[in-house]
Amino acid sequence: MKRVYNFSAGPSVLPVEVLETVRDEVLNWHDSGMSVMEMSHRSKWFDEIITRTEEDLRDLMAIPSNYKVLFLQGGATTQFSMVPMNLMRKGKADYVNTGAWSKKAISEARKFGKVNILASSEESTFTYIPELDPKTFSADADYFYITTNNTIYGTRYTKLPDTGNVPLVADMSSNILSEVYDVSKFGLIFAGAQKNMGPAGVTVVIIREDLVNDAHPEVPTLLQYKIHAENRSMYNTPPCYAIYICGLVFKWLKKLGGVPAMQKINEEKAKILYDYLDDSSMFKGTVAKKDRSLMNIPFVTGDKDLDAKFIKEAAERGFVNLKGHRSVGGMRASIYNAMPTEGVKALVEFMKDFEMKNK
Ligand SMILES: *Cc1c(COP(=O)(O)O)cnc(C)c1O
Repeated sequence: MKRVYNFSAGPSVLPVEVLETVRDEVLNWHDSGMSVMEMSHRSKWFDEIITRTEEDLRDLMAIPSNYKVLFLQGGATTQFSMVPMNLMRKGKADYVNTGAWSKKAISEARKFGKVNILASSEESTFTYIPELDPKTFSADADYFYITTNNTIYGTRYTKLPDTGNVPLVADMSSNILSEVYDVSKFGLIFAGAQKNMGPAGVTVVIIREDLVNDAHPEVPTLLQYKIHAENRSMYNTPPCYAIYICGLVFKWLKKLGGVPAMQKINEEKAKILYDYLDDSSMFKGTVAKKDRSLMNIPFVTGDKDLDAKFIKEAAERGFVNLKGHRSVGGMRASIYNAMPTEGVKALVEFMKDFEMKNK
């Protein structure tokens, strides 16, 4: 069976080179005589893996030394609660509502304090990133929360809000490592691995040291950043195998030239599809041009039956998982770092052909 072009929003495509290494090492990692799956997380081998994985991520994102890198479980969704549980000290935070993931984060935060929603694009099914007026920001907020890339709708912030002394917290699940970010602009960044870093099961948290504090004593031990920071993410058994594969993805990305090189590829790759959508008289992009995501590209024909026909025929030709999220409809092509440019070019060729045959 030939590999397909997988446009899944997550879990999503991984670099073939990485999968080949995983295959080669599955029975015997580096002459250890065992699989990484079978190793103690207290072994020198796994210590080497997690140390190297953290170092490579620090290199890739130029993470300053006053930030901790944590490898946690529970997905990005657990961070919706861990962030307010640990950071709501005065009991107030600013949030921007740019979609379903922001809304879930907001409803968790409300359990722990006052949530101020500064802006929302919900009235237009989140097709744009709302303008933010710094005059409305709460100077006394514990943090300011955004979702840098909105996986379901295909929008992204192209400019970060200037929150002054209020720490900026970002859910970067679907665009971490896809473009260059200045980590020092953030108090905390989190991302589930299964979009742009590796398999599901590990969530990366990058947190500025001064935000790693004693949490309220009622906060469960495993939900305290401090516990994980003090124990190098090994207070309990970490998701060892997922961390190992993320490490291989980081190595792959470094070899490619790091995040700046990846960003250039991503911009060119996304442009191929956006240019066609702007040209086509059948397919249309659904979001404001200024806020277009480099990772998730939703589009529609305007006719539900034609959308369904397209998705079906595309799948038959090996372009899979193009169905849009149920809340948006239509199609969505997720073109994360590991989606090769050839995959997008081939998709566009197929779309042109489909457009011609179904005029
Ligand atoms: C996928 C996704 C999530 C949810 O991640 P889980 O790991 O399933 O909890 C949260 N936020 C964004 C932006 C996502 O894309």
